[in-house]
Amino acid sequence: MKPKIIFFIIDGLSGRPIPALGNKTCLEAAKNPHFDFLAFGGQSGLLIPLPGEEHPSSETAHFAIFGYDLKDEFPGRGPLEALGLNIPLEGNEIIFRANFATLDRNGNLKDVRAGRIKDTNALCQAIDNIEIEGVIFKIYPSLEHRAVVVLRGEGITDQVWGNDPHKLPPFKIGVPLLPFKPKKETKEAIFTANILEKYIHKVQEILKNHPLNLEREKNSQEPANTLLLREGGKFFKVTSFEERWQVKACCVAGAPLYKGIGRFLGMDVFEVKGADGTPQTDLAGKFQKASKLLKFYDFVFLHVKACDLFGEDGNCEGKIQFIEKIDNFLPILMESDFTKLIITADHSTPCILKAHSGDPVPCLIYDRENQDETKRFTEKEALFGGLGKLQGSELLKLILEK
Ligand code: ZN
Repeated sequence: MKPKIIFFIIDGLSGRPIPALGNKTCLEAAKNPHFDFLAFGGQSGLLIPLPGEEHPSSETAHFAIFGYDLKDEFPGRGPLEALGLNIPLEGNEIIFRANFATLDRNGNLKDVRAGRIKDTNALCQAIDNIEIEGVIFKIYPSLEHRAVVVLRGEGITDQVWGNDPHKLPPFKIGVPLLPFKPKKETKEAIFTANILEKYIHKVQEILKNHPLNLEREKNSQEPANTLLLREGGKFFKVTSFEERWQVKACCVAGAPLYKGIGRFLGMDVFEVKGADGTPQTDLAGKFQKASKLLKFYDFVFLHVKACDLFGEDGNCEGKIQFIEKIDNFLPILMESDFTKLIITADHSTPCILKAHSGDPVPCLIYDRENQDETKRFTEKEALFGGLGKLQGSELLKLILEK
């Protein structure tokens, strides 16, 4: 029989015990009758997507779970985010992931997300198509404070360190931005670092007096007065997910990065109106779409983002409520025509860290047949589940290589 798999990744789902919750994690504190039903009737375990990685990124964790090599098959965050936004790429562009961020009066980094600004369209328009020494810098808004910067021109390379002091050593805020630095002292890398520096100064000059920022300051909101650029990369082609795993695969995701991962791996990506990767995303719409797609695909990669956002903001209450909201709509998936329903996370995002962590994440396989002793879907219970401990793409191997 052909497999019909829903592979549901809940970004940043798991966490660490929180004293104010009686040392429960958000997942444990949430009332989750449907998650628990699936754990009770299925098999649980713990997954470590990227062993040894203390703060895994979402994109690298997804690549590891999907069985792709981070050294040779990973294009960087920039190209993935760009693919998610449907930006046409030819392969000769250098693409950076960007954050709108806030500098204080002294030029030190104050907020890496510019107060989680919601709409940067006007700002992007104001700084689009800047030309520095023959290289054109295009910018495209993405989810919330995120954006993509695409460089087109001669003599440029992705072998440059970005300017984000919060993501690179010294891993700090309250300090000036880092200078762009060539990874190797090549002519291209030195040139690219040099024009990126000039670009950022130009961007800061324009953003400083932009009406939207003046308005934000008047309303005591953080102005989006700089860009943090990192993880530059180039687009290239890899073996498709279908070729690698011998299943016809598609992707249902809201946030651009995950649509980009789907597209990069050759999955058909389906947009759902109102599914945008925020806490207000249309969960019911996404679950219905995923269920319907089982008719046409063997493997549906379903992604939901917002648990990670609440974790990064340290918002336990919000995270618990969002987990319960997912649970509330789970019957849509449970009643669909799958042979296996898989639920897991790409990494933990503990509210107490306000960051991703490399802690193992719970995973479950529900196939209406195999059952273990687990009664709830939690970090602790998964530790004693029948699947044991899995690493990297072992979960996928377990469900696809039979
Ligand atoms: Zn993630």
